[in-house]
Amino acid sequence: VALDEFELIRRYFGTSELGFPVDGVVKGIGDDAAILAIGVDEQLLISMDLLQEGVHFPAACDPLLLGRRALLVNISDLAAMGASPLCFTLGLSLPHADPDWLQAFSEGLADVAMAHACPLVGGDTSRGPLAISIQVHGTIPSGEALMRSGATVGDDIYVTGTLGDAAAALKFILAGESVPDVLLNAYYEPESRIRAGIALRGLASAAIDVSDGLLADLGHILDASGVGARVHLDRLPLSPAFCDAVAVHQQVELAVSGGDDYELCFTAPPDCADRIHDALGRLDVGFCRIGEIVSGNSILWLDAQQQQVRLTARAYSHFRND
Ligand code: ADP
Ligand code: MG
Repeated sequence: VALDEFELIRRYFGTSELGFPVDGVVKGIGDDAAILAIGVDEQLLISMDLLQEGVHFPAACDPLLLGRRALLVNISDLAAMGASPLCFTLGLSLPHADPDWLQAFSEGLADVAMAHACPLVGGDTSRGPLAISIQVHGTIPSGEALMRSGATVGDDIYVTGTLGDAAAALKFILAGESVPDVLLNAYYEPESRIRAGIALRGLASAAIDVSDGLLADLGHILDASGVGARVHLDRLPLSPAFCDAVAVHQQVELAVSGGDDYELCFTAPPDCADRIHDALGRLDVGFCRIGEIVSGNSILWLDAQQQQVRLTARAYSHFRND
């Protein structure tokens, strides 16, 4: 029987022998980052991502872009919690030590590390297939982290930026076709949403970063919060470049199921709408209200006439076909 990635984690790693509660661990497995108590006023957040050649990035990827992307996608999990980056560690498995490759990769990491005042503080290096594992650490005033579990019935559902650009880029890269620059940029250099996450402290009731596609990641908010959602497909934020490059009948499916957006999906009570507008507007972060939290446990997709639409898209999951 196929074990999906999240079922696997729940069954073998989220067990009472491994993921058990102790003083000091405020939140363990199950959100974008773990939350640790380190003092009265501040909490420490930890999140790890593993990127493998051929799975998470195309083989022979430009090392400068790879370095930037590897750190950005990790920092995205801190953004999803509303945290400020503190530092990161780097686990690196390399087939061979190529100085040119390493120099460019190091520069890519440094671009993002300096932009976020998030220095490299340790790691481990070995020979093996190309794989990059980064663990980021961040901080937040105690109790202010945005979790996946806080959505309640009646909340509005928002996403920042646009959806599907990176997925469209990857589709063209893998097909060996030329990719419009705007889309390529969305894939290799996703916009950092750290400032947006911080601005949403005290406003958003739940948040996640869209790494596996809206379908999957809004699904995680619903699971963690014990609620359902109504999403208006005509309100999905699609970029002009995306609409130009992707056939009309494929747009919605790609925008909701394609990964790598690294935008924030968040929920908030309707009476926070004006403050969200001000807070994100001040940062010049585009955002869009795409639906509402309802009772239930699944996503109802609606068209412009409020008619229910059945999507064939499924969320990506490692191991599904094992
Ligand atoms: P994200 O997409 O934000 O990186 P995931 O949805 O992949 O997070 O992971 C869901 C949760 O499972 C997270 O809290 C993550 O820390 C945890 N997790 C994933 N893999 C493992 C593992 N091998 N051991 C323990 N926890 C894990
Ligand atoms: Mg995440």
